[in-house]
Amino acid sequence: MKQNETMLNIQDNVKINYADEADTDTAGDDHLFTGIETPLRADAFEISDAEKIHNIEHHFREIMITLGLELKDDSLKGTPHRVAKMYVKEIFSGLNPANKPKIALFENKYKYNQMLVEKDITLFSNCEHHFVPIYGKAHIGYISNGNIIGLSKLNRIVQYYSKRPQVQERLTMQIGRELQEVLGTKDVAVVIDAKHMCVSTRGINDTNSATVTSFYDGKFLREHTKSEFHKYISL
Ligand SMILES: [Zn+2]
Repeated sequence: MKQNETMLNIQDNVKINYADEADTDTAGDDHLFTGIETPLRADAFEISDAEKIHNIEHHFREIMITLGLELKDDSLKGTPHRVAKMYVKEIFSGLNPANKPKIALFENKYKYNQMLVEKDITLFSNCEHHFVPIYGKAHIGYISNGNIIGLSKLNRIVQYYSKRPQVQERLTMQIGRELQEVLGTKDVAVVIDAKHMCVSTRGINDTNSATVTSFYDGKFLREHTKSEFHKYISL
């Protein structure tokens, strides 16, 4: 592990409650989170993407005006619409289950029953406490139970869960659980090594630190399997 990295091991039953007295600033800077599922409203998808873009555009314009910006300026006038469209269609599109990647499995004809590792998967997400980027790499390992998945689908699963306001611990677990479900095996490992712009560009202003989170289950809980995985991802 590199210097300055924080190792967080995620248990299945992680549940952190905000202390009653904790003010919202502290809760955000400490990146506390409350559960594994993304907190979504019951009516989250009752309006269309077009209506969402329309609403966000309106509110983002108000934010810019409140900041004192002149929206008649040619450079700024399209920004509220651009931001709204980017939120709904790109960086937060993973909130909508309709955008979940469709995964087809293939029969493992070669009887490959060793560990498969895909490492250095590019990851871009956004911190749910500050709405600024989280970026880094995801590493995935699994042991086939007879079915295999197209390699690019591993990237797509990482992307889908990344395209939400996130905390890294939850993102790691959501990817791990999805892989277990899709692959039909408990033998899954996920490691995410990422930097948070809310840590590097504001608040504590630390540009060096990175955060490492992990999800291990099934055979990956065994020490020798886990260390084999670590050996591959550190190559
Ligand atoms: Zn943050």
